[in-house]
Amino acid sequence: MLITMDNSETFMTEVVSNDPKMIWKECLRLIKESVPYITYSTWFLPIKPLQLTEHTLKIQVPNNFFIEWIDEHYNTLINKTIKQIIGVDAKLAYVISEESELPEIELKREEPVLSAMANSNGNTATKKPTPVKEEKPDFESYLNPRYTFDNYVKGEGNQLARAAAIAVGENPGETSFNPLFIYGGVGLGKTHLIQAIGNKILDNYPNKRVIYLSSDVFTVEFVEAIQSNTANEFSNFYKSMDALIIDDIQFLVNKEKTQDLFFHIFNTLHQSGKQIVLSSDKPPKDLKGLNERLISRFQWGLTADVQPPDFETRIAILKKKSENYGISLSPDILEYIAINITSNIRELEGCLIKLLANSSLTSKEINLELAKKTVKEIATDRKVNISIEYITKVVCEYMNVDENKVREKNRKQEVVMARQIAMYLSKKLTKSSLKTIGLHFGGRDHSTVIHAFNSIEEMVDEDSTLRETVEAIKNKIELSVA
Ligand code: ADP
Ligand code: MG
Repeated sequence: MLITMDNSETFMTEVVSNDPKMIWKECLRLIKESVPYITYSTWFLPIKPLQLTEHTLKIQVPNNFFIEWIDEHYNTLINKTIKQIIGVDAKLAYVISEESELPEIELKREEPVLSAMANSNGNTATKKPTPVKEEKPDFESYLNPRYTFDNYVKGEGNQLARAAAIAVGENPGETSFNPLFIYGGVGLGKTHLIQAIGNKILDNYPNKRVIYLSSDVFTVEFVEAIQSNTANEFSNFYKSMDALIIDDIQFLVNKEKTQDLFFHIFNTLHQSGKQIVLSSDKPPKDLKGLNERLISRFQWGLTADVQPPDFETRIAILKKKSENYGISLSPDILEYIAINITSNIRELEGCLIKLLANSSLTSKEINLELAKKTVKEIATDRKVNISIEYITKVVCEYMNVDENKVREKNRKQEVVMARQIAMYLSKKLTKSSLKTIGLHFGGRDHSTVIHAFNSIEEMVDEDSTLRETVEAIKNKIELSVA
């Protein structure tokens, strides 16, 4: 089977080589930076580049399940990547090894660049088809149709949040849950829940203006709007929504200008009875570095938390998800996974996907032995997947420090601080030795790393603002590799 993806966007760089292997290697490099390692190793590493003709890169994937999965989850990422590497007309053709004689199918999809940013969880940004076509809003909602209430498993840890979300989805702007503020740790279902609200609203009212984005994307867009003198349009666009859904609002911390603007948008929407939905890693009152007036507004409606799932909920989630993939797992496998993977739902799901992939790649049936092997792999992946480069990148972005300076001999206070935090987190979150960590920071020796580690550890004990910062950066890193 040959499936072609169409692209019609601008590109950033063009690689002159026409060796498919080289090109795919470049693509893999970019993809690796954008997805968790589990995803990368499960779905991208097994792909074989075959041929490059004109602008079409032909790749071979092991089976049909593979292509469906990749297309549903990573269409945006792949399109963006091949455009970057091959150029504006880049197309990707999949060849499924067992079925190479079947006719071609064309997949056409709009791929706004923003969708890749809006959906840091690897979502595609396909919008729901709406019954009343001509009145459909003329913008992308960035909602992933995969996130619905139907496939959101109810559990003790999410009872209130889920009930409130359903109420808001049914009657946006008309409940007292405005804003609805959902908070909790990584991978516990916040994004799923708040996107389900958006999808529900559009199901019931296809013409309502609903938009989902993360506060990171909001900030980036705002900065761009200022640079291009379109800040007013930017603000009016968001003020025109019937429902504004912003994920990971904690990233607005310390971004005063963006907070100011958001404050005005919030007021306009709230006064006109429009729905606001927010998620965060912590409750409003703990968002240090966020303007008091925003904190108080965030508490006007309902604040609900999501807690890690208990054993029964973990089993229920595994059951539901495996059914969605069309398989049924025996009780001993379900139990084994639920006992061993406890921290969050994303990891639970990651384990299931890896199990499926392990079985589909090796043509082995899913049994307890394979489940044990997979759980073990996940446990080792956890640490191996976080690279020192990635930690440095996130730290520098968060602290607004030039990454290169951190690796040079720069002694400016903010650079030293960023360097020390990056070293500290590298020690905490990776398995790298002190020596290796030192090498990544311009060849500093291990005693410098120990010194950095100890001083940050001491400082976070005494300075709550710093503690919050380090915690937020750590969450951000873990969020992307969970
Ligand atoms: P968060 O935004 O809190 O980090 P996500 O919403 O991204 O977490 O959830 C991580 C993964 O787990 C998603 O794929 C989501 O669909 C799934 N998930 C989370 N909670 C549930 C639930 N209660 N039922 C079914 N799937 C869930
Ligand atoms: Mg999320």
